[in-house]
This record gives sequence, structure tokens and C-alpha cells, in this order.
Amino acid sequence: MLDNLTQRLAKVVKTMRGEARLTESNTAEMLREVRLALLEADVALPAVREFIAKVKEKALGEDVIGSLTPGQALVGVVQRELASLMGADLGPEASQLNFATQPPAIILMAGLQGAGKTTTVGKLAKYLKEEKKKKVLTVSADVYRPAAIGQLQTVTSQVGADFFPSSHNDKPVDIALAALDYAKKHYHDVLIVDTAGRLGIDEAMMQEIAALHAALKPIETLFVVDAMLGQDAINTAKAFNDALPLTGVVLTKLDGDSRGGAALSVRHVTGKPVKFAGVAEKLDGLEAFDPQRMANRILG
Ligand code: GDP
Repeated sequence: MLDNLTQRLAKVVKTMRGEARLTESNTAEMLREVRLALLEADVALPAVREFIAKVKEKALGEDVIGSLTPGQALVGVVQRELASLMGADLGPEASQLNFATQPPAIILMAGLQGAGKTTTVGKLAKYLKEEKKKKVLTVSADVYRPAAIGQLQTVTSQVGADFFPSSHNDKPVDIALAALDYAKKHYHDVLIVDTAGRLGIDEAMMQEIAALHAALKPIETLFVVDAMLGQDAINTAKAFNDALPLTGVVLTKLDGDSRGGAALSVRHVTGKPVKFAGVAEKLDGLEAFDPQRMANRILG
């Protein structure tokens, strides 16, 4: 079991009690520990570098108040900065979905295969129906994976939302527009569009989802990413962020034992708020994202 960051820093700073200020020299070794802690949490290196630079800038010159050691003071800076980066300063509205549009509000789901898109559509449909009293329609634009359409139909019926059937003989954009037409005619408040995900990033897939985005003009485009993804999260996030104007992130599988460094990597690349956390396979396993809790988890 690894020591948490506070314990690690405590070891480093034993020799420098009584220092009144955080300085270049008394923080250098501690910043190395912070860097290691983040790398161990699977935060990608560019995100670590940016974060350390920010912490350094904030910490230098900061007074070490009262009985705190420089280590404790630095941990305070690290915690505040990480929570702020995770969205703590944005307030609870940051995790809300935007419905300020002519209904139906369209939510487009993006992400790699296995990220948890279809499961998240089910969870969102349940949340929107039960908590927000919305009439929800779901549709799958995944015409490649034979089981995908059926899987979406199953989760949609489990939560009692409406499902627009699609056929793998149709084109994704045609399917989505037909679903939109149906949603308008049947007064749905929300249309959630599930999309195909490949195992890796590929150009054709990015073009297809960009075409879906152009045709639907969704008010929310959510990037779904597996918290267990580790260092690769940064490349995946970059590819989707370049292809689409994302509006938010859903971090899935936070019930796993990863430290969730992917959250920081994805935030570094997209700058978009993480809106929801997936915390179980079951369809009630969706929570509003909690920046403070995520910061604590990444720091271990
Ligand atoms: P998609 O390919 O992106 O549509 O991914 P799926 O929705 O099919 O999910 C892939 C796998 O991840 C399935 O076995 C899901 O049950 C599982 N899954 C999705 N979200 C979560 C989550 O938050 N926690 C856990 N433990 N499993 C999840």
C-alpha cells in the first residue's frame, strides 16, 4: 500500500521544520513527490507537468502559517489546485446538463468502444426521467457492432424510456435524423444518441461522429471515458476533442480501483467539465461528479 501524499511529504519535510515560507529550495523535493504521486495515479505526463508548474507558481512565497510544516502547506496548495482544476470553483451548475434549447434537447455520446457509452445512455435516461421528469427517447447510430442496437434497446426498456429502433442497413446520420423527427412528433424532451466506438481511434470513426454532430447540432456532446484507461486517456481525449466541440465528460468505472488520474488528463486536454461519474454497472450507478472527492482520490 502506497503512502498517501500527505504522509510522503511529511517524510520529506522532517528536516525543514520552522521554515516560514515556501521557497524554490524547500519545495523542490516535495514537488518531486507530488509528481510521482500523480504519475502513480496514471495522470499523463503533459498534464502532470502543467499541474506541477501551476502548483509551483501558487506555492512560492506562500507563508507557512501557525503550526503547519512547509509540507502541510504545500499539500494544501496541491489539494486546492487539483480540486479547482477538477471543477470545484465552477460550482454545482458545471455538472448540470444544458436544456436551454427548443425540445428535444439532443445529447450525443462519444467515446471508444467499451468506455461505457451505452450503459451511460441507460443511466442518463433513468436520471432524466426520474429526477428531471423528462420524456426521453434513445437511438443507436452504431450500425457496426451487431449487438449494440439490441443492448441499447434493453437498457432503455429497463429504465422505461422510449427507444427508436434502427437497422444496421441504414446510415448513422439517416438513423439519427429519423429519430429526431420522431422525437419532435412525439414531444420528447430529450433525444440521446448513442454512437459507434472502435477499439482504437480511427479517422473514419471520427469523421462519422463529426457528421452526426453537424447534422444533429446537439446541445450536449458528452465524451465518455473509462477511468481505468490510464495514460492513454490523454490521446483518446485529444482525438475526440479535436473532432468535436465537446460540452462535458462522463468518467465511468470509478467503482474500480484506479486512482482516476484519467480525470486530470482529460481535463488538461479538453478543458471541459466532468459532469457525471459512473460508479456501477447497474443503471442507478450514475452520480454528479464531485471535484473535491476526485482530487482526494487522485492524491491517494
Ligand atoms: P460502450 O461500448 O461504450 O457502449 O460500453 P458499454 O456501455 O457496453 O460498457 C462496457 C462495459 O463496461 C460493460 O460491461 C458495462 O457494464 C461496463 N460499465 C459501464 N459503465 C460502468 C461503470 O460505471 N462501472 C462499472 N463497474 N462498469 C461499467
